Amino acid sequence: MLDHAEAKRRILEEVSPLPAEERPFARCHGAVLATALLAPHPMPRFDNSAVDGYAVCAAEVASASAVTPVLLTSLGYVPAGNPGDWTLQAGQCVQVATGAPTPKGADAVVMKEDATRHDDGSVSIREAVRLRENMRYCGEDIGAGDELFPAGTRIGAAQLSVLATMGFTQVPVTRTVRVGIVSTGSELLEVHESPGPGQIRESNRFMLEALVREEGAHPEVVAKAPDEEEALRELFLRALEGDLALISGGVSVGEKDLTKRVLEQLGVEPLFWKVRVKPGKPLFFGRRGSTLVFGLPGNPASSFVLFEEFVRPALRKMQGRRSLEEPMVSATLEAEVLEQASRLQFLRGQLRFAEGRYWVRPLPIQGSHSISSLVRGNCLIRIEPDSGVIPAGTEVPVRLLRNEI
Ligand code: AMP
Ligand code: MG
Repeated sequence: MLDHAEAKRRILEEVSPLPAEERPFARCHGAVLATALLAPHPMPRFDNSAVDGYAVCAAEVASASAVTPVLLTSLGYVPAGNPGDWTLQAGQCVQVATGAPTPKGADAVVMKEDATRHDDGSVSIREAVRLRENMRYCGEDIGAGDELFPAGTRIGAAQLSVLATMGFTQVPVTRTVRVGIVSTGSELLEVHESPGPGQIRESNRFMLEALVREEGAHPEVVAKAPDEEEALRELFLRALEGDLALISGGVSVGEKDLTKRVLEQLGVEPLFWKVRVKPGKPLFFGRRGSTLVFGLPGNPASSFVLFEEFVRPALRKMQGRRSLEEPMVSATLEAEVLEQASRLQFLRGQLRFAEGRYWVRPLPIQGSHSISSLVRGNCLIRIEPDSGVIPAGTEVPVRLLRNEI
């Protein structure tokens, strides 16, 4: 049986980033940049004012104070959006709005609050300003040709704002990952159905679909099938048309665990089965052509943990992402860990930040079937194999989950 690190290494080894394509700006939220982008022009584009006030030559108002104001002549007002083509001569100033271009010859802006305009157009400056004070110079934020973002950056709110202001109407991104998701199990019902004896409403399909969408990938086939070869074959075939197939259930050793057999009949090459992790031991991984296939055990917590530890990194590598995982932190255990295992464990826990550090409490119910642990946990605590009882107060590595509890 593979250990966690080896399984992850073998998975990532099989993944190649998808090709790049140009995508219109409006559809880029959540996409991944395929190449580094360079600034086509400086930001700010022109010298401008950081405040509402009067553009001046700082040396001329060096002696200004409330008792000894300096009197200047205002040439006029430049609102934002106006080119304001003035040039300051000695004794002159220009009133400017925040973001308005400053006139030539100006090297500082006096805040409106520190000046008084008189009816004859003259202005009393009551406060001295330092050179460049309240000015934003061309290129001081981003120079023309500077790298805006490296390849592999996920385009979020901040990136969209920079792409917009830099005028990228088309953006080079990696092609969207197409995912097929199939839940298997004869006991599984739809959301609207009422379970009879031995039946359950199925949850994994929807959880996996949401996880995939949150990563900016596209679930193309999302379906469920009973534990019957013919039905499984039909759906697996469709799921295998994508870049990634996620099959839930039927990968263990039961009589009706048909997933591996049917996948192999369809030409999926098995790359490994079973990993020394808890939950999620029966993980199956294979490939058919360029399609990667994960067989995830049907227990909800197993599927969830395996997605986090193995599927998410694979998906992100396909997208060409730079960061393949959600962040980890070190946290202090608030309660002892009693769970013993000879496998690497991922305990669902509650993480909080207080008194300058992270604290974590493992949830009391840790079964791989536990759905309470999914909604009550906001992190995965990583416990090395054969750790024995771990006392409260110990520092443990914790994976952050984006889950509100
Ligand atoms: P399996 O991996 O098929 O042996 O299933 C293991 C356990 O997970 C069984 O209790 C199943 O009923 C349950 N299970 C399987 N598939 C799902 C699913 N899609 N949603 C929720 N529970 C499931
Ligand atoms: Mg099953």
